[in-house]
Amino acid sequence: MKKFTRTIEDFSCEHCERKVKGDGYTNHCPFCLWSKHVDINPGDRQNKCKGMMEPTKAFYAKETWFVMQKCEKCGKMKKIKLKKGDDLSVVEDIIAKELY
Ligand SMILES: [Zn+2]
Ligand SMILES: [Zn+2]
Repeated sequence: MKKFTRTIEDFSCEHCERKVKGDGYTNHCPFCLWSKHVDINPGDRQNKCKGMMEPTKAFYAKETWFVMQKCEKCGKMKKIKLKKGDDLSVVEDIIAKELY
């Protein structure tokens, strides 16, 4: 069974309202690192939840930043991998929030 569907779509971030160019692999916003809970398996857009996923934790592993997002609606946690072009100052804010 195919678990990953590549869907290339541009979207407007529903958190910061900026235009995001989709690359088909991720739907998180590079500006605020929020995303929308739309996938059951990565890329399938089959989830009916549609809650906003808030970046709550950030950590660095294997030379890559990862962010844990939590869905505001259903509470599901999801780990996302940051990519080139994502705003790392948001990561600093997340870490600062965790510390204080
Ligand atoms: Zn955003
Ligand atoms: Zn959800």
